[in-house]
Amino acid sequence: MSDDAHGAYQVLARKYRPQDFSALIGQEAMVRVLRNAFEKDRIHHAYVLTGVRGIGKTTTARIIAKGLNCIGTDGTGGPTVEPCGVCEHCASIMESRHVDVIEMDAASNTGIDDVREVIEAAKYRPAMARYKVFIIDETHMLSKQAFNGLLKTLEEPPEHVKFLFATTEIRKMPVTVLSRCQRFDLRRIDPERLIEHLASICEAESVEIDTEALALIARAAEGSVRDSLSLLDQAIADGGKDAASVRTMLGLADRARVLDLFGLIMKGDAKAAIEELRDQHKSGADPEATLRDLAETTHWLSTLKISPDLANNPALGADTAARGAEMAGTLGMRVLARTWQMLLKALEELSRAPSAIMAAEMTIIRLCAVSDLPTPEELVKKLTDEQAGSAGSSGPAPTPGPGSAPQARLSVASSNAVAAPKPQGMAQTSVAPEQDLSHLPQSFEAVVALISEKKDGELLYDVETGLRLISYTPGRIEFQPATGAREDLSGRLLQALSKWTDHRWIVSVGDAPGGETISEMRSEQMHSLEQRVRKNPLVAAGLELFKDAELLVIPRKRMTSEELGDVPHGEDLDDDEDLFGED
Ligand SMILES: [Zn+2]
Repeated sequence: MSDDAHGAYQVLARKYRPQDFSALIGQEAMVRVLRNAFEKDRIHHAYVLTGVRGIGKTTTARIIAKGLNCIGTDGTGGPTVEPCGVCEHCASIMESRHVDVIEMDAASNTGIDDVREVIEAAKYRPAMARYKVFIIDETHMLSKQAFNGLLKTLEEPPEHVKFLFATTEIRKMPVTVLSRCQRFDLRRIDPERLIEHLASICEAESVEIDTEALALIARAAEGSVRDSLSLLDQAIADGGKDAASVRTMLGLADRARVLDLFGLIMKGDAKAAIEELRDQHKSGADPEATLRDLAETTHWLSTLKISPDLANNPALGADTAARGAEMAGTLGMRVLARTWQMLLKALEELSRAPSAIMAAEMTIIRLCAVSDLPTPEELVKKLTDEQAGSAGSSGPAPTPGPGSAPQARLSVASSNAVAAPKPQGMAQTSVAPEQDLSHLPQSFEAVVALISEKKDGELLYDVETGLRLISYTPGRIEFQPATGAREDLSGRLLQALSKWTDHRWIVSVGDAPGGETISEMRSEQMHSLEQRVRKNPLVAAGLELFKDAELLVIPRKRMTSEELGDVPHGEDLDDDEDLFGED
């Protein structure tokens, strides 16, 4: 595209508005359907274009109008998905001054009278073009009466008339109208695609700007090309060519500082976390954006845990990526899931808070408060240990027997009573006499705890999902690999354990069938725990009340049986609330 001939500055969104389908990025599916329809001469008489604002609905409608009426450079062409752009029809449609292409904004023309004009106009043949095209923007704003008026024309459309409806809220369109239209959902543009697009425009404009800065713009635009171009305009006007200045422009905190904050929260250091939040706020970060950033970080770390490839984010520098990988290794998936849930809830509630910064601070205090609570796995372990020991031994805290009221069983939701198993603490398996192996993990569980303690997230994941234990003695593991287990699992486990314990381990793959993997056991135990929690009358009542609620077992604090018995009259409603992961 050429420079503006008049020399005056033209906003990028206008200057780079697509003139044909090839320039319309990210909407290939729609273009394919249209191409087919045009080629087979089966052009529908009404199309409805839906999608978020700034996605290109009106632009698309104009391109379709051009395609319908283009006569080609030699004046003999028919309808085409590749309008020439230069014939009299193409030129005047793009400038919105074609007599037969009528654009109407339903947001300001909602009534039956406005529609009546359209219906009247539709009766007459086009003045000069092939088709009379009505482009109605924000169609959902039309009154019921107006829709009814339109319906008659849609039911028996004159051959020379085409309707193009654009709407951001397709649900508000009457079904009777929708059923007479072909619908196109315009997609949000992938960030990668948008970054590419922005980069090509920067090149055309001879503007140098960091990819990281473009990535931030693409992210903020949430898939809207127009918004991304407006932000790019603003960045260029501000002289912001690097990520730091774009961040300031967007009110975003530095990514590294978001990670700092996230780290402090995960450590449960509420004081330092609040100080960091306030400091970021002072330097221009919007509290809501910070909460969003924290949620995004949670999502990013979770995907990093699953696979480094999935967590590809062009907005990140190498340092940040390395720190993220380290964090992902140490944090459990359950903790991340819980954090995500709490952040989403906080964002939902933000509008009801007296101020955004207050809401953000309260969220951070809450997150810090639960950061040291046991995860459901630890709880389940505690529960099964208790069950196993319920015959004789008694725990450090009063635990209800198996016969007590269902509520009392909830007392497993304690934080202080659960400690991560220490390798040395458990003596379950016999120790070979000839050698002192007492410093080695005495059970396979203790091995898992050791891997977790050493923060080798990848190995932990592989062991938990890929290893079916056949036999364990300290220094020796025999297992059967689960389906999909990595081939190098035994080698890696051997090396890691030998290094950590300063002992030569033997890790072998055996022929005998092994037991369940840890992750299989865990999901069963979670299931049975959930079943038990569900039976709690209070929980059952809550689930009955909130039909769509999803049960999310999040331990908050230790409750005694008396407290639990009191719950219906208790004032600690906040705790109850968390038993039902309300939606
Ligand atoms: Zn043309």
